[in-house]
Amino acid sequence: MATLRQQSLMMVQSREKVSFEAPSTKISDYFGSEIFSLAEMKESLAPSVYKKVSVAIEKGTKIDSSSAEEVANAAKAWALAKGVTHYTHWFQPLTGSTAEKHDTFFDALSNIEKFKGSALVQQEPDASSFPHGGIRTTFEARGYTAWDPSSPMFILENTLCIPTIFVSFTGEALDYKTPLLKSMDAVNNAAVSICQLFDRNVKKVTPSLGVEQEYFVIDKALFAARPDLVMSGRTVFGHNPARGQQLDDHYFGSIPSRVKSFMKHFEIESWKLGIPVSTRHNEVAPGQFEVAPVFEEINKATDHNQLLMDLMDKVADLHNLKVLFHEKPFAGLNGSGKHNNWSLITDTGINLFQPSNSARENLQFLTFLVATIKSVHDHADLLRASIASAGNDFRLGANEAPPAIISVFLGSTLSAVLDELEENGNIKIEKGDNMYMKLGINKIPEIILDNTDRNRTSPFAFTGNKFEFRAVGSSSNVAGPMTALNVIVADTLQNMHKDIQEEIDKGSEKKIAIVNVLRNYIKESKKVRFEGDGYSEAWEKEAEKRGLSNLKSTPFALKVLLEKSVKDLYEKHGVLDERELHARHEIRLENYIMKVQIESRVMGDLALNHIIPTAIQYQNKLIENANGLKGLGLDTKAAVLTINEISKHIEALKENVLAMIDARRRLNKEENIAKKAEGYSTDVKDAYFDKIRYAADKLELFVDDEFWPLVKYREMLFLR
Ligand code: ADP
Ligand code: MG
Repeated sequence: MATLRQQSLMMVQSREKVSFEAPSTKISDYFGSEIFSLAEMKESLAPSVYKKVSVAIEKGTKIDSSSAEEVANAAKAWALAKGVTHYTHWFQPLTGSTAEKHDTFFDALSNIEKFKGSALVQQEPDASSFPHGGIRTTFEARGYTAWDPSSPMFILENTLCIPTIFVSFTGEALDYKTPLLKSMDAVNNAAVSICQLFDRNVKKVTPSLGVEQEYFVIDKALFAARPDLVMSGRTVFGHNPARGQQLDDHYFGSIPSRVKSFMKHFEIESWKLGIPVSTRHNEVAPGQFEVAPVFEEINKATDHNQLLMDLMDKVADLHNLKVLFHEKPFAGLNGSGKHNNWSLITDTGINLFQPSNSARENLQFLTFLVATIKSVHDHADLLRASIASAGNDFRLGANEAPPAIISVFLGSTLSAVLDELEENGNIKIEKGDNMYMKLGINKIPEIILDNTDRNRTSPFAFTGNKFEFRAVGSSSNVAGPMTALNVIVADTLQNMHKDIQEEIDKGSEKKIAIVNVLRNYIKESKKVRFEGDGYSEAWEKEAEKRGLSNLKSTPFALKVLLEKSVKDLYEKHGVLDERELHARHEIRLENYIMKVQIESRVMGDLALNHIIPTAIQYQNKLIENANGLKGLGLDTKAAVLTINEISKHIEALKENVLAMIDARRRLNKEENIAKKAEGYSTDVKDAYFDKIRYAADKLELFVDDEFWPLVKYREMLFLR
C-alpha cells in the first residue's frame, strides 16, 4: 500500500482548478452587500431610531431597549430576505480565534421567525469552555456576550453574526474586544486634550489600523499527510529543500495559478462583507503570500482581520488548499507576521502622523511622533509581552524577522530633525523668536513617505504617515498588541499634557512650552531609537549595552504583566484591572505550555512511530546489501559507513526523545504555572527540539526517498 505521503502527492498532480463567480465585475456593485450597514439601517429604521443608533455608535453610548427592539426587527427582516435562518453572537474569546453559538430565528411555538431586541443585545453562551484564567471558577460560572454596535452585523454562511464583547457576570473582560474598546477611549481622551492645544475644533481622535497579513499556502492533501502541521501548525521536522528562498525569486515572481484563484475567491467573499482588501502579493519565502486591506478604525480593522482569516480558511478548503497562519511553519524560511500599521486620526480629518507644510501642524505632528517614541521607550517590555506567543518565539530574532528587542526606526530625515532638536537643547527661545526656524523644525518635508529608507528589519518603524508594528505574529489577534499600544500612548500623552501645562503655568508661551517638553522627551527616549540592521548580531550587542531588553521566550516576556507599574497603567486608563491582567497572564502561560507540549508530543510520536521504524527498515536493506556484497567478495565500506551513520542518528533520536519525555513528566508535576511554562521553554524546547530535529533531518537525507513517510519540504513548498 502506498504511504500517505505518496497518496497525497498523487492527489496534488490531479488537482483541477476550482471555479467560482463574482456577483458582478464591478466590486462597488456588491461591496458590503452582506453587512447590515449604517446605510441599510437608515433605510429600514424610523429616523428617530436611526439617529439614536448612529449617535450610540459614534459616542459608544448605550442603545435603549425599545430602539434595540426596532434594530433587531429591521436586521431580521434584512437577513430573512437574504435567506438567513440563524443568528449568532460573534465574539473573540482569549483562545485567539472567534466563537459563535447559533440560534434559529424560527420559533416553533408560534410558528414564525422571531428576533427580540434582548437577543440582539445580550446572550449567554455556555462559556465554561473558554479560557478565563481563574476568573469564572472563583466567582460566577457564567459569562455573557453583549452587542457592540460600532462594528456592523454581517452574514456568514446563512447566519446573521452580531459582533459582541464577552464578559463574566461579575463584569471582567473575557475577550479581546472589551479592553480594545476601552483603550480606544483612553487614547481618544488623551489625544484630544493634546490636539486642543493646537486646534480647539478637535473633539475626537480615532486610532486606525491596517493589517498586512502574511501566510503560507500548501495543498490540502499534503497538509493532511503531515501530522505535525495538523496538530501544531508547524513542521517540527523536514530537511531544507535544495532550493529555498536563496534565489529570492519568489517575491517578484508571478503568483501560482491555483493560489491566485484562491486569492481572487476570498477577496470576493471579503468584499461582500465590507472588508476593504486591496493588495495581494507573493512574500519572500516560496509558498508565502500577503494580503492587506485599506486601513480602518481599529475595532473594525480587528474584527475584519479575524473574519478575513476565517474566510481564507474556508475558501482555501474549497480550493483544496490549506492556509498556514503559524508564525514559523517551516524552519529555515521566512516566518509570517502581521504588520500593524497604526495611526491617530482626528474628527477634523487630520492624520496626526502626517507631516505637513505648515509649521504649526508640524509641531503637532512632532508632538505625537515624540510621544509615541517615548511610549515605546518607557513600555518596551509591555509591547514585547503583547506579541509574545509560542509561535512568535520561533520567528522573532530568527534572522528573517524583527528581533525580540523593541526599538523604533524613524528614517534619516526625522532622525536628523529630532537630533537637531536635542542638540539645540540649550538654545533659549524668546518671545517673538521664529522658534521653528531656530530649532530647524520649519522644514520637515510634507512627504517623508518617499525618503524614509524603508528599513524592513525594525520591529516598530515610522513609515511616512503611520507607525508599523511589525513584530506582531501572523496568527495573533491584533487586539492584544493594539490595546497595549493605545494604552501606552494614552499614558504618555496624558503625562505630556500635564508637563506642558506646568511649563505654561510657569509663564512659557504655549508653543515654547510644547517644544521644551518635546526636547526632554527626545532626550529621555533616545536609546530606543535604532536605524541600523535589526537582524544583525552587532545590534544585539549594542542593544545590550544600551540596556534594552531582549526577551526571547514567552514565559519570560510575560512576566512584566504582573508588575505594579503595568497594573497601575491599565487601571489608571480603565482598560483592565488587576484580576483581569492576572487572568490574562495565566491564560497566556497555559496556552504557551499547551503549544510546546503538543509540539513536543508530536515530535516524539513522529520520531518513534514514523522515522525510527523507517530508518531501521532502510538500514536492514543496507545490511542485506552489505551481506550480498560480502558474499560476492566485494568492498562493503560504503554500505557499512551509511549503516553506522544511520545508527548514530537513530540512537541520538531515541535518546533525546526519551529524555524529553522525562523532562515533560517532571514538569507536569509542577504546580506553579509560571515555573512550568519557563521549564517548558528551557528544559523541553531549548534542551531538546533542535537536537531531535537535527537527527531526524539527517535521517531524511540518508533514507531512500521512496520509504520516507513525511511529505518533504520541497513537495509542500513547490507543488501546487
Ligand atoms: P507596505 O508597508 O507594504 O509598503 P502600504 O504602505 O501600502 O504597505 O500600507 C500598508 C498598510 O498600511 C495598508 O493596510 C494601508 O491601508 C495601511 N495604512 C496606510 N495609511 C495608514 C494610516 N494612516 N493608518 C493606519 N494604516 C495605514
Ligand atoms: Mg509593511
